[in-house]
Order: sequence, then C-alpha cells, then structure tokens
Amino acid sequence: MIYLKDSYIKNFEQKIVLIEEDKIITQDSSFYAQSGGQPGDKGILEFNDQKFNVINTIKHELGIAHVVDTEISDLSGDIKGHIDWDHRYRLMKMHTTMHLLCAALPYYVTGGSIGIEKSRLDFDLGEETFEFEMLNKIINEFIQQSHSILYRWITNEELDQKPELVRTLSVKPPRTNDKIRLVKIGDIDLQPCGGTHVANTSEIGEFKFIKYESKGKMNKRVQFTLV
Ligand SMILES: [Zn+2]
Repeated sequence: MIYLKDSYIKNFEQKIVLIEEDKIITQDSSFYAQSGGQPGDKGILEFNDQKFNVINTIKHELGIAHVVDTEISDLSGDIKGHIDWDHRYRLMKMHTTMHLLCAALPYYVTGGSIGIEKSRLDFDLGEETFEFEMLNKIINEFIQQSHSILYRWITNEELDQKPELVRTLSVKPPRTNDKIRLVKIGDIDLQPCGGTHVANTSEIGEFKFIKYESKGKMNKRVQFTLV
C-alpha cells in the first residue's frame, strides 16, 4: 500500500476496480483505510471533470474503498486522488504520539482511539500506579529530542520469535504477504504497526495530558491532545 511505503504521499492515480453504491474502490491508494484505531482519510477524488468528496476510507476485499458523499453510477478507467492533508497530518502527529505514550508507559495496551481533537490509549497497569501528570514532561522531552521514525520489514516467523515486540493485547499487527512492518522511533520505541507516522518527533508540536480514568481493572485510560 502506498501509505505504508511513504506516509507523505498526498496524491495518487489508480485504475478503478469497482464502484459499489457510495464507494470507489481502487487496488491501491495513498488514502489511509480506517484500522487500528486510526480514522480513514478524507479528501477529493477526480474523474475527468467530476469531483467526489471522500468522507472516509475503509478496507475492501479488492483494495481500498473511498467512501464518497453521493451515490455513484458506473465509472471505469483511471481516477486521481488528493488527501485532505490537514486532517491526515494531524492524525499522523496523534498516531506517532501514541507510540511515545507506549514508550513512556511500559504496560500492555488494551485499546486506543486516534482523533483530531483528542486521542486516548488504554493500558493494563496491573497493580502498579503511575503519576500521569508526569506525562507532559516525559512526552514533550521525547518530542524535543527530535527522534527519527524509521521502518523495517520482517517476516511473520521473525515476529513470532520476538513476541515482546507486540504491545497490544487486542489489536494484532497487520500481516501482508508474510511481511510485517516494524516502526522504530529513535531508541525509545520499536513495534509492528501499519499506521501513518511523521518522519521526526519534532513535527508533533506540544503534548498535553487531558485526563486519566479507570475503565475497569485491566483498562486505565489516558486522554491527551496536541497544541
Ligand atoms: Zn504506529
């Protein structure tokens, strides 16, 4: 997928493989398909003189489905796409911050959701306690240390030999053609992930802890925003 190779590609041109009511499906896309707690991309698709407003992007058995705000009659041929970059870049910053939270909180992740306004990550703290107000200092230091985000592909077998790399109990990392992408943030975080990240932590801005809530024994929720 285009966004797995380079999350900064804002445009694409692909052949339409299927039209399904309000969905335009292409085999590949630079639009991120909703998964792993990260919303799908928005943007514009262009077909000759027609423009379609993409309100969400989801996975489809034939590729990537761009959900538009109107019903479409049949189209065939090539289509161009342009990502709503403000929306996507904000989500890239939020998503990368989720990894920094994983680095700051060495506990299993039990859930999470990435949003434009705020995001949350749920942890299983077990019997331990954590001074969550400290996150402002810890995460902002990580951001200011300007860590590069790098990628490496490994096989399913290699991942199975290193189960400690998987931080999430609920979400399994995506396995594509026996290859899994590892995401490395400096020397502070390494885990398999199929989401979109910024290239350097310095792009994130300022982290702001919002609140901490207990949602059950195995589920402690941290909410944050970026300013
Ligand atoms: Zn990620």
